[in-house]
This record gives sequence, structure tokens and C-alpha cells, in this order.
Amino acid sequence: MSMNRRTFVIKSAVVSSALAVGALHNAAQAQAMVAETDPQAKSLGYVADATKADKAKFPKYAAGQNCGNCALYQPKDAKAGGCPLFAGKQVANAGWCSAWAKKG
Ligand code: SF4
Repeated sequence: MSMNRRTFVIKSAVVSSALAVGALHNAAQAQAMVAETDPQAKSLGYVADATKADKAKFPKYAAGQNCGNCALYQPKDAKAGGCPLFAGKQVANAGWCSAWAKKG
């Protein structure tokens, strides 16, 4: 093996393991989705599907409201994002809770 080839192989190995570590790191950092059974979610009436909001209990719910268009929502990707009411977890873009606030 020539020196250049060896250097290339070593560099490739270093780069691949760095990528693997990066991928693992991202996976570990992916935040869990808020479960509807979570006590905080229950008290706020959070549902992952806004159309399933308990309209009897939360009459202020109006069709079209969802986390994705809530002032508190911090979108992460097309499906989920952060919400200060659920620190360390993610809410569904299509979700809803009784703290929904119109974007300013
Ligand atoms: S406050 Fe807004 S973003 Fe947070 S869970 Fe409720 S509706 Fe979704």
C-alpha cells in the first residue's frame, strides 16, 4: 500500500467513525414526543391530532387550530416541534392543547 493510499484509508476510517458518532449523538438528542397520557398533557387537554380535541371540555377549540399555527410552537421539522409548556419533549405539528394561542 502506498503512503497516499494508507493515509486515505486512515482518513476515511476517521471520517466514517466521526459520522457514526455524530449520527448516534443526533439519535440520542432526538426528543421524545409528548404522550397524551402525560399528566401535563392531560391537564392541558393535549392531543397529537387536533381534530380529536375534547370539544366538550375545551369549547374554545376551533377547527383549524393546531400546534403548527400556535404562537408557542417552535417547529423542528414538518411533523414536530418544541413547546415551552412541555420542556424537553416535542409536540406534534398536528397536535393541540387548551393553551393554544393565536400567532401575533
Ligand atoms: S401551547 Fe400551542 S404548541 Fe404548545 S401544545 Fe399547546 S397548542 Fe401545541
